[in-house]
Amino acid sequence: MKIYNTLTKRKEEFVPLEEGKVKMYVCGPTVYNLIHIGNARPMIVFDTVRRYMEHKGYEVNYVSNFTDVDDKIIKKAAEEGVDSSVISERYIEECKKDMEALNVKPATTHPLATKEIDGMVDMISTLIRKKYAYPAKDGTVYYRTRSFQGYGKLSHKNLDDLQGGNRSLLVSGEEQKEDPLDFVLWKPRKAGEPAWHSPWCDGRPGWHIECSVMSKRYLGEEIDIHAGGEDLVFPHHENEIAQSEAANGKNFAKYWMHNAFLNIDNKKMSKSAGNFFTVRDISEKYDLQVLRFFMLSAHYRSPLNFSAELMEAAKNGLERIVTAAGRLGELLTKAKEGELTKEETELLTEAKTFMEKYEGAMEDDFNTADAISAIFELVKFANTNAGEDNTKEFIRALASQLSVMAEICGLVLEKKEEILAEEVEQLIQERQQARKEKNFARADEIRNQLLEQGIILEDTREGVKWKRA
Ligand code: AMP
Ligand code: ZN
Repeated sequence: MKIYNTLTKRKEEFVPLEEGKVKMYVCGPTVYNLIHIGNARPMIVFDTVRRYMEHKGYEVNYVSNFTDVDDKIIKKAAEEGVDSSVISERYIEECKKDMEALNVKPATTHPLATKEIDGMVDMISTLIRKKYAYPAKDGTVYYRTRSFQGYGKLSHKNLDDLQGGNRSLLVSGEEQKEDPLDFVLWKPRKAGEPAWHSPWCDGRPGWHIECSVMSKRYLGEEIDIHAGGEDLVFPHHENEIAQSEAANGKNFAKYWMHNAFLNIDNKKMSKSAGNFFTVRDISEKYDLQVLRFFMLSAHYRSPLNFSAELMEAAKNGLERIVTAAGRLGELLTKAKEGELTKEETELLTEAKTFMEKYEGAMEDDFNTADAISAIFELVKFANTNAGEDNTKEFIRALASQLSVMAEICGLVLEKKEEILAEEVEQLIQERQQARKEKNFARADEIRNQLLEQGIILEDTREGVKWKRA
């Protein structure tokens, strides 16, 4: 499996630190508003990376934080006249709803910055002790950027170029920095802001230290993959490396992955520019599976321009796949039992090549665009070669191959209605079994459970039928 590593600017073979396991950290959103579809890109992309790794048998420890203390959250809280935790808790809940609708799996752990302050104070203390950081008179703690040998290695920036560019940026209040390149680890409280005790002053952490600490706490000092959008390369990830490697004395992350931007009119979609659609906006017009499919139709390192036409194309494309899966499902109910014919065996050998192509694309730095082409090839193949004369085994093999391919991309192929029908049928069977065993209490329980879902059961001569209340 090859991964493009921002650190080395090359595709590298993926070798995990520990066999069979992947430790992965993905920088999550700052929660002060509904997430926009640009924020959804890293969620979808890295969820797909995780799913593929799981498909290959890796146990993935996937950590993604919520940044729940930040100027923007505090500002919004002040506007509404509430505590900033009210804002962050509200938007964490909303974000989780969007993630679920996008079929993004919950992380193994979703840490919150505000719950990890002790770890941050610890790491900052270590950095001060090791002379990588210093407190200024007002209690602000700065990282001494020039003291870290490898500074700039991720963003491939040269310290002296940065120095030139940054000199003019030394704004008032920052004169206490030893060097304009130094960045904040801890800052003193301002009136009305949330604050925690620390040896330097009551205050709150800088953004970069949060991820260094949460990554260490939940994944350890060395991790396999650290990921996020490409705007995070500098300064966020560069600073995380400086903090973690200086504090822990170890290499931080082996592979650094960054997704390109989701653009609108070729400009980065962002809240501050005002050129954004929230995931919620899109959900009013489309099933969010369409948005997921749209995102994966491009390689994650290519910029992707959002447009109504491309969303329509994604909708049609996904529909073709869903229809093919539905047709296979129908054929399966009608198909005859029996062994695979010689012709079917040959066809299945041919069908395997689509899976090989799919995996080949995913192994090549998660080229989901090519992987999706392989899905379309399988769809075309199934539409042409599967029919009412085939055996169940043949149809089942094609259906299951299609479903594995879709599952890795996190695409749900069954229509919601079909999922419901399947669940109902299963419960009906369970009820029949309970009755056979004279377990009438369980049988009644199932009938009532279905009734609560608005499903009425009727015992007819041809068996149990169901309808909506
Ligand atoms: P933020 O809430 O701004 O910290 O962003 C959360 C995540 O979304 C980060 O990984 C960002 O890099 C990513 N992100 C923000 N805007 C975009 C965009 N327009 N396209 C792709 N990724 C984005
Ligand atoms: Zn981060």
